Amino acid sequence: MGFDFHPFSAGRKLILGGVCIPFEKGLQGHSDADALLHAVTDAILGAAGLGDIGTYFPDSDPRFRNVSSQVLLEEAFRLVRERGFLVGNVDVVVLAEAPKIQPHVGAMKTNVARILNVQPTDVGIKATTMEGRGVIGRGEGIAVQAVALLHAVEATSRESSGKWETDG
Ligand code: MG
Repeated sequence: MGFDFHPFSAGRKLILGGVCIPFEKGLQGHSDADALLHAVTDAILGAAGLGDIGTYFPDSDPRFRNVSSQVLLEEAFRLVRERGFLVGNVDVVVLAEAPKIQPHVGAMKTNVARILNVQPTDVGIKATTMEGRGVIGRGEGIAVQAVALLHAVEATSRESSGKWETDG
C-alpha cells in the first residue's frame, strides 16, 4: 500500500496520474509532485519488500528536480520485476476537494496501466472529497492512497527463507 500528500502551490501545473489537469494551482514538490503516481510507486515497492520512493529517489537529489513521476514509477517497476514480481492490479483513491478527478480517470488508468504492463481494467482509480473537513476539505492539498497486488513469477530468484521455492 502507498500513501502520499502534496500541498497546493500557486504557479505549478497540476499533474495527477500523469495527466495535466486544468486548475488554478498545482501541487508543490521536488518532482512534478504527482501524488497519485507516488502512492502507486510506494505500493509496488512496498509489496516487493523494496522500501519506499524516498529510498531510490530522494528529494535531496537534484536529478529528480521537476522529474516526471512516470519516470520514477517506471524505474520502481523495473526494480520490482528484477525482484521477480509482476503487477496483478492496482487500486487508487484520490482525496481531493477540487478539482473534479472523474473526467481524467480514463487517461490516468491508461498511463498507469502502460507503465505497469497491465490492462487499464486492472487499474482502479476513484476519488472522494472530505466533505469540507480537514486539510483536504479546506483545499490545502491532495492525498492519494494506493494498493497493489504483485504476482511472483520468478520465485526462486528471490533470496528468501525458502517458503517461495518450488520443488521442481
Ligand atoms: Mg510525493
